[in-house]
Amino acid sequence: MVRPIRPRFVRGPPSIDYFKPRGIPLSTLDEVVLKVEELEAIKLKDLEGLEQEECAKKMKISRGTFQRILSSAKKKIADALVNGKAIKVEGGNYKMPVARMGRGFGRRAQWPPTVCVCPVCGNQQPKVAGFPCSQMKCSKCGSLMVRGD
Ligand SMILES: [Zn+2]
Repeated sequence: MVRPIRPRFVRGPPSIDYFKPRGIPLSTLDEVVLKVEELEAIKLKDLEGLEQEECAKKMKISRGTFQRILSSAKKKIADALVNGKAIKVEGGNYKMPVARMGRGFGRRAQWPPTVCVCPVCGNQQPKVAGFPCSQMKCSKCGSLMVRGD
């Protein structure tokens, strides 16, 4: 049985997804594929200078796993630098914080929040989704309301 790979947490999408040596046409270029979590590992450890322990915690993985990801990343980057290969950042097994807010994504957001206003007394009530203001009665004077904002 294959052990399922736990996702590694990265903070955001990579700022670049392709890195290539100058002056070599893409068609003749070899490339290494750096996984998104490998780039994140390099960033945390080598760029931001965090302790391995801390990096592992941030990515919600064990220290051993972090170590493996980091060495794999370094090997690929070294290969690209030494042998003049392009680096493509792609794939891997990771989760971004934004992915957890995916629920309801694509639905039209109610922002800024819409209110219904009573034309008689000026009372404001939050609009109920799917229910027009013109069918809503003012809680203070009972008049039909109009859409505010
Ligand atoms: Zn009213």
